[in-house]
Amino acid sequence: YAKAAGQHQVCFFNHAMTRNLVRRKEIEAELRGAIQRDELSIYFQPIVDLKTGRIRAFEALVRWFHPERGEIPPQDFIPVAEDTGLIITLGNWITRMAARTAVNWPEDVTLAVNLSPVQIHAPGAALGILAALRDAGLPARRLELEVTENLFVADNAATAQFMDMLAVEGVRFALDDFGTGYSSLHYINKYPFRTIKVDRSFVSGPNTGRKSDAIIRAVAEMGATLEMEIVAEGLETAEQVETVRRAGCTLGQGYHFSRAVPAHLALRLLQDEREGANLRLVG
Ligand code: C2E
Ligand code: MG
Ligand code: MG
Ligand code: MG
Repeated sequence: YAKAAGQHQVCFFNHAMTRNLVRRKEIEAELRGAIQRDELSIYFQPIVDLKTGRIRAFEALVRWFHPERGEIPPQDFIPVAEDTGLIITLGNWITRMAARTAVNWPEDVTLAVNLSPVQIHAPGAALGILAALRDAGLPARRLELEVTENLFVADNAATAQFMDMLAVEGVRFALDDFGTGYSSLHYINKYPFRTIKVDRSFVSGPNTGRKSDAIIRAVAEMGATLEMEIVAEGLETAEQVETVRRAGCTLGQGYHFSRAVPAHLALRLLQDEREGANLRLVG
C-alpha cells in the first residue's frame, strides 16, 4: 500500500518535472521571437532621495506581455535566457532601449539596469554595453549596472576586467539584493561598487524587527564611510520609509513611491516633480 502511494508520488513528481521542462522549452522558443514581435517592454521604477524626496534614478525592469499567456514574470524567463545564452542579445537590447528612454530625463537622473552574471562573461560584453550607450547618446556616467549579490559568484580576472573597463568610462555598479548571498564584504572590498541595495527582506516580512533594523543601520554606516549610496528596496509603507531613513539609508525604492511604470509615465513623474509634487516621502 505504502509502496503504491510512493510510486504514485514519484509519477506525480516526474510529471511536474516534465511539465516544468516543457514550459522552459516553450519559453525558450518563444523568447527568441518575443523581441521581434514587440512583446517585451521596459518599465521604470523610481529610486528616491530619502532626504529630499526627489527622483535620483529609475531602475529598468523588463516586462513580457505574452499574447496568450499574459504577463510572464522576469523570474520565469530571465533564468531561461541565461541558460540559453539569449541573455546576451536580450541584455544588450534592454540596455539600448532603456538608454534611449533615459536620454529624455534631466541630466542628473541615473538609469539603473540589471545585469546578469552571464553577460559579464560573454566576450565583448563591456563593448556591447558601451555600444548601446553610444547608440542612445547616453553618457556612461548616467548608467549604473546592478549585479545581484547571490549570483555574483565568478570572482575572477574576467569579472574584474569587465568592471574596470566600464568603471573607467564612468559606469557605476550597484550590488543588488545585498544581504542574501555570500561574501558580500569581499565583493565590496574588491570591486568598484558605488551603491548597495539592501534586500527587501530586511525591510518587510517575517524577518524584520530590531535585528534587521540594526543590520540596515550598520550597512548604512559602512556606506557613509565608504562614500557609497545605500538603497533600501521594497519600501511599501510610510513607516518603512521612516525606519530606513532614520537608519541612514540615502535612497529608497518601493511600491510606497511607485511601481515600475512605462516610459511615458516615468517622464510624467519627473514632470510632476518639477511642478513641486514630491513622491510620498512621509505618510
Ligand atoms: P531586482 O533587480 O531586485 O528588482 C526589484 C524587484 O522588486 C522588481 O521585480 C520590482 O518590481 C520589485 N519591487 C519593487 N518595489 C517593491 C515593493 O515595494 N514590494 C515588492 N514586493 N516588490 C517590489 P521584477 O520586476 O518582477 O523583477 C524581479 C527580478 O528579475 C529583478 O530583481 C531582477 O533580478 C530580474 N530582472 C528584472 N528585469 C531585468 C532585466 O532587465 N535584466 C535582468 N538581467 N534581470 C532583470
Ligand atoms: Mg535590481
Ligand atoms: Mg534588488
Ligand atoms: Mg530583488
